Amino acid sequence: MLQVNIFYLKHFFYIATNKTSMDFSSKLLENAVNEMSQFPGIGKRTALRLVLHLLKQPQSHTQKLVESLQQMREEIIFCKNCHNISDKELCEICANPHRNEQIICVVEDIRDVMAIENTSQFRGQYHVLGGKISPMDGIGPGELNIVSLVEKVKSGEVKELIFALSSTMEGDTTNFFIFRQIEDYKITTTTIARGISVGDELEYADEVTLGRSILNRIPFEASLKNS
Ligand SMILES: [Zn+2]
Repeated sequence: MLQVNIFYLKHFFYIATNKTSMDFSSKLLENAVNEMSQFPGIGKRTALRLVLHLLKQPQSHTQKLVESLQQMREEIIFCKNCHNISDKELCEICANPHRNEQIICVVEDIRDVMAIENTSQFRGQYHVLGGKISPMDGIGPGELNIVSLVEKVKSGEVKELIFALSSTMEGDTTNFFIFRQIEDYKITTTTIARGISVGDELEYADEVTLGRSILNRIPFEASLKNS
């Protein structure tokens, strides 16, 4: 009899902890959890843990969090030269006179800029595309910062373009699309050497490997023959 009861008790707890819908005692709590669970990788249970953590902190803590998110959303701008996320018209990298503006590293987004900056192996500037060409996701060349890159090349200011997009099909398509637009201009086009295996995202590559792959970059056309 006792064993049967324990079985039901275990069964009850199993259902209570594993069901996907949650019964909230407060609509306010439920709303906060629903909003929090919109973040990638955050499920309802993690969202609940985060919200309960906030409730344990002083109210000023939540106030600061809300204010910083709101300020970021309202005031953040994109650098007019490289399109990286910035607080000013020109980001710190583009405004730095010691950076070589004749060498431009083409990346997908700010995470790639941060990863490459961490290696301390690159002293040129960046051009942030804002994504990769991906017809499946409805992203065509027109959605990306490609025109301004081609304009930069046309102006004659650029000596070398380094493609540093991840070596996925979308990355390769984007590289090739840009290459076709600029191949008639007298510049060197290179791609970062692949110590990074196909499909790996740039931001997950370790600093040493990434640093080395920037230093040992290869002519872009050679990379086409290998693929
Ligand atoms: Zn910039």
